[in-house]
Amino acid sequence: AKEFGRDNFQFYAPEFNIRTQEKFVLQEELRNGLARSEFTLLYQPQVDLRSGQVFAVEALIRWKHPTRGMVAPGAFIPTAEETGLIVPIGDWVLHEACRQNKEWQDAGLPSMTVCVNVSARQFRERNLIGRVVDALRASGLEARYLELEVTESLIMQDIDVAVATMNALQNLGVQISIDDFGTGYSSLSALKTFPVARLKIDKSFINDLATDENDQAVASAVISLGQKLNLRVIAEGVETDHQVAFLRENNCDEMQGYHFSKPISARDIEKLLGGPKD
Ligand code: C2E
Ligand code: CA
Ligand code: CA
Ligand code: CA
Repeated sequence: AKEFGRDNFQFYAPEFNIRTQEKFVLQEELRNGLARSEFTLLYQPQVDLRSGQVFAVEALIRWKHPTRGMVAPGAFIPTAEETGLIVPIGDWVLHEACRQNKEWQDAGLPSMTVCVNVSARQFRERNLIGRVVDALRASGLEARYLELEVTESLIMQDIDVAVATMNALQNLGVQISIDDFGTGYSSLSALKTFPVARLKIDKSFINDLATDENDQAVASAVISLGQKLNLRVIAEGVETDHQVAFLRENNCDEMQGYHFSKPISARDIEKLLGGPKD
């Protein structure tokens, strides 16, 4: 089978080129998209499980592509991350999320935190703190109404650097939550040193909560871990009554998911929270 080596190379080479070319095209389109304001943010409410109040929204990016329609982040965030374009795109997200939250406050909506996802590349930018300060200044939003969601795996790549960055953010008054918690193997001793306010139980543990005993064990363990470390715990991807009941029984603090609302436009957030207008 050795003689197949060369043929294999010739077979795979064109495919490799196509993928590289696609990535290059996507990169150009992302650059143009940013310049032409093709990105938009949807907001998904986060609900307190005891009071039923919406206390925060997570900003989730969408790309209104001129020919491909609404593009989900899974289709372009990885390339944006690889090419570094996530830095200017992430800046736009930060500014827009802060601006929108301040606009809601000025319009008299109940005060909420806006949660912004920060990718690994963005988090490692030397000037992340300066960029966050810029977004707060430009919008006039108080730091405590901004929360950054960083994934557990991002933190674990370099714990010392991550903790230093998180401390600097905390000193600004910005809150931090750990996204996709449960998927990244942080040690308990490390977790204790993270200056974070919340753990987000990854939705992969919530999906099959009704039937999967392992997922039940992980979810309830994360909830009691949060209680012991004095961190709030939110479950993401909550869709069913049954999942809500499980989370309540296990004293989870908060939830986010289609059960309450899908990610919706800023206008729809106003309709949802602005009280009866019609
Ligand atoms: P994530 O931060 O884990 O966000 C949660 C994802 O789950 C979102 O997908 C959300 O729409 C979806 N979701 C929420 N509730 C439910 C539910 O009940 N059921 C199901 N099946 N899904 C639910 P989305 O909006 O497609 O975002 C995917 C990922 O893209 C995010 O995962 C995040 O990692 C990334 N992302 C989104 N916006 C941004 C951004 O502005 N910057 C960066 N760096 N990443 C972003
Ligand atoms: Ca998130
Ligand atoms: Ca998540
Ligand atoms: Ca996830």
